[in-house]
Amino acid sequence: MKVGFFSSKKYEEEVFSSVFKQSGIEPDFLELRLTPKTVQLSKGYDTICCFVNDILNEEVLMKLKEQGVRNIALRCAGFNNVSISTAQKLGMRVVRVPEYSPHAVAEHAVALLLTLNRKTHRAHGRIRDLNFSLEGLVGFDLYGKTVGVIGTGKIGRAFAQIMNGFGCKVLAYDPFPNPEMEKIGKYVALQDLLKESDVISLHCPLNDQTRHMLSSSAFEVMKKNAVIINTGRGALIDTKELIEALKSHRIAGACLDVYEEEEGVFFTDQSAEGITDDVLARLTTFPNVILTSHQAFLTHEALVNIAETTRDNIKSLMRGESCNNEVN
Ligand code: NAD
Repeated sequence: MKVGFFSSKKYEEEVFSSVFKQSGIEPDFLELRLTPKTVQLSKGYDTICCFVNDILNEEVLMKLKEQGVRNIALRCAGFNNVSISTAQKLGMRVVRVPEYSPHAVAEHAVALLLTLNRKTHRAHGRIRDLNFSLEGLVGFDLYGKTVGVIGTGKIGRAFAQIMNGFGCKVLAYDPFPNPEMEKIGKYVALQDLLKESDVISLHCPLNDQTRHMLSSSAFEVMKKNAVIINTGRGALIDTKELIEALKSHRIAGACLDVYEEEEGVFFTDQSAEGITDDVLARLTTFPNVILTSHQAFLTHEALVNIAETTRDNIKSLMRGESCNNEVN
């Protein structure tokens, strides 16, 4: 059976082709992002496979249904881009990959923090230019600092464990505390975490409760030396208010792997055309902001796990069986 893969990229095609061999599922790599304009490409597929920035709102889901699509296999954990209530109304099944490598994302969060703090990206550029000066490269010891983890699921706990290993004191906030986490850090109220942490890392899902959970009112209570990390979802932070906090030196820096309006920009090469998003353009100008293009998941181990779970999810859908990874 052919499955239409929207937003496919070269780096995943090889892994998916290899994992799907002899599974009876043939991936058709479509490359284009799923949007109201590209939805007609889904004609002829019973099942399509989508990624984080594909649009699966009511309009697109209705068109998918009209074209004969019955199943949506997300090859990611988050499903905030899917109108689940519409899919349910239309009788479409949605499956996802809830876990593939929490370590990949947690390690990337740490990589961003170390880079921003120790300015290795700037040092590397200087050395290539034969500039061996250390001016402007002063960082801070992570040892002994307080790290606040918001969302203590799989990724938050993996991140907390690494920071614990660095000798940091870990504070945590999650409406559903986890006993494993209590061995690594201390649960506190969100306001206390914001007030006391030198580093604050976001690892909760994006939903109506968490949208813009870091906005001016949160930046106001943070320490002036606080560095925030977001590898969760862009809209967990109000980006315009983050820019004001950075401009006024209200906080010390931001490590971002995700952005509120990343659709259509992230995962693409815009170097020839430039970008039209002035907020994103402003973010890229701060020396104390480091930005990556939603790449925290991108390790070989994670790609193989994503491909294997997606293959098994699609097999269950094809056989009309129940699937543990179905989004309800
Ligand atoms: P998870 O489901 O294991 O953990 C999420 C945790 O957030 C849970 O413990 C939950 O109780 C908690 N939570 C829910 N509402 C909260 C709130 N209001 N405040 C604080 N915590 C809250 O998920 P995970 O695998 O750890 O992934 C976390 C998020 O990371 C995902 O939702 C996804 O958006 C993001 N993610 C990003 C990438 C990337 O490449 N950047 C890759 C995978 C996942």
